[in-house]
Amino acid sequence: EKEAALAAAAAASTPLDSPTIFDKIVNKEIPANVVYEDDKVLAFRDINPQAPTHILIIPKVKDGLSGLSKAEERHCEVLGRLLYTAKLVAKQEGLEDGFRVVINDGPAGCQSVYHIHVHVLGGRQMNWPPG
Ligand code: 5GP
Repeated sequence: EKEAALAAAAAASTPLDSPTIFDKIVNKEIPANVVYEDDKVLAFRDINPQAPTHILIIPKVKDGLSGLSKAEERHCEVLGRLLYTAKLVAKQEGLEDGFRVVINDGPAGCQSVYHIHVHVLGGRQMNWPPG
């Protein structure tokens, strides 16, 4: 029953290669509160923050990476860049006591935007296990 629900949710979601709202942010068609940018990645504040600091880090070019589960060997460099940027952003935000890095994948992982992104959460005590 759960599998059927997940399959239905996946089928109902946007085709994985379609542009998402994050392309519009990369292209400056919609505004975002950008905290870091280089030629490969963009980091901006989540519109619906779950912690005092909640930042999303995305590759500027999706290249098939709608989610982590679609990763191929060729994505290793950009995947490393996303994580390294998480460290830079955490430092920039003053999260000396620690922080949480999250990648949601697919319906069961609660992914809602199909353009891979790393969440950086901090500024409060995070709990384990997550919900
Ligand atoms: P996911 O649920 O896919 O892991 O994370 C998507 C995140 O994108 C959510 O936390 C959601 O609040 C955020 N988000 C969705 N649309 C926008 C937007 O237009 N601007 C910004 N800054 N964040 C967004």
